Amino acid sequence: MPEYSPKPYLPAVPLDGCEHRIVKIETVNPDHIYPSLLFVRIHTDTGLIGHGETYYAPGAVASMLHDWMGARLLGGDALAIESHWRFLYERAANFGVRGTELRAISAIDLALWDILGQVTDQPIYRLLGGPVRDCVAVYNSLGHPNYGARKDGVQTWPGYGRIGEPGPLQDCYNFFNHPEDLAHDLLESGYTAFKTWAFDYAAHQHGGMRIGMEAVEEALVPMRRIREEVGYKLEIMVDGHGFFMLPAAIRIAEGLAEIKPLWVEDILKMDSIETLANFRAKCPVPVSASEMLLTRADFLEALNKRAMDYVMIDPTWAGGISETVRLAHLAQGFNVPVTMHDCSGPLTLMAGIHVNAAVPGCCFQETCRAQIQTVYKDFIDNQPDIRNGYMALPTGPGLGVKLNPDLFDSKRSGYRVSEWKNGK
Ligand SMILES: [Mg+2]
Repeated sequence: MPEYSPKPYLPAVPLDGCEHRIVKIETVNPDHIYPSLLFVRIHTDTGLIGHGETYYAPGAVASMLHDWMGARLLGGDALAIESHWRFLYERAANFGVRGTELRAISAIDLALWDILGQVTDQPIYRLLGGPVRDCVAVYNSLGHPNYGARKDGVQTWPGYGRIGEPGPLQDCYNFFNHPEDLAHDLLESGYTAFKTWAFDYAAHQHGGMRIGMEAVEEALVPMRRIREEVGYKLEIMVDGHGFFMLPAAIRIAEGLAEIKPLWVEDILKMDSIETLANFRAKCPVPVSASEMLLTRADFLEALNKRAMDYVMIDPTWAGGISETVRLAHLAQGFNVPVTMHDCSGPLTLMAGIHVNAAVPGCCFQETCRAQIQTVYKDFIDNQPDIRNGYMALPTGPGLGVKLNPDLFDSKRSGYRVSEWKNGK
């Protein structure tokens, strides 16, 4: 009889005997196209490649991943997703866990789920217990081809995207300049809902502490013109990108009441859930919160305090597919519907689609057609199939898409690699 040797809880070193061992981690920042994005590939000794992604401060996340988290991952079991997630989360919790650490865990988590999907030859939503629907409702956020994407390598600040200029897929520009034409274009393309950040520019000019009624009225004009043109055929959502303090947020929400938006999102700065609950109590329209919240503790507190009507999650900021599923089920326990954030990258969209496909309480996936039809298509092999306001479920194993291997050019300035030295 072999001697029984129990394995400790969440061991710091890899368990023996795994069939798919992590042997290489690659990261690349496509700074020539999309300076804030970080792509990740995790390789196994069986030749599988898992794909992951996160957005913002890519150099810091790459450093966290290679210089710190790699020590747990390299040589480890690629299929022990929860073990890696929990170990890295608990050790990172020693210094706060938010931001860079959680974005790194998110990117790793996507890649490991992608590997598990390839091993089992199943889309991830099936491994999560789905599908619960055969397609996912999507809305279109009013970006443009250069919203977040730029060729000069300069990283953009959140909430400081430009309005754009005349031309194809210039939804943001057209919202302010040709709102009726935009409304008809969206309806003819099958969309039934869009999201705008019409108040960002007031915040840039005046700050977020107070907003004049003139600025509120100016932002309302395009929405009012769309309501007059197509009535309620289009749902409208309004994102404030966390710019405003409570009095300004209430004034904006009161102004928006006549528009009857499906929700207002992050009008308020998201660093106080008490204030968010106060805002929701005074807000005449439904409140969505928030891709800016992280961890189960944040969301549980917000749900307990009845601080939102919709939960919004970014799967590549909040902890990957693993944590997004947990958050979505948590919200379902409160009968609060869940929506998924994008506007950041193609694998964020795919991760959101898999969770949408697996959790009944999910109701909407954010998309940005201006990104999907321009920058995203160069990053991935299978293009999202979006028709009549719905996206088809991916059919391939894992995430259902692969990153363009040309991105992982070792000569690229934003490329890093770590390899397993077989215990050395
Ligand atoms: Mg948002």
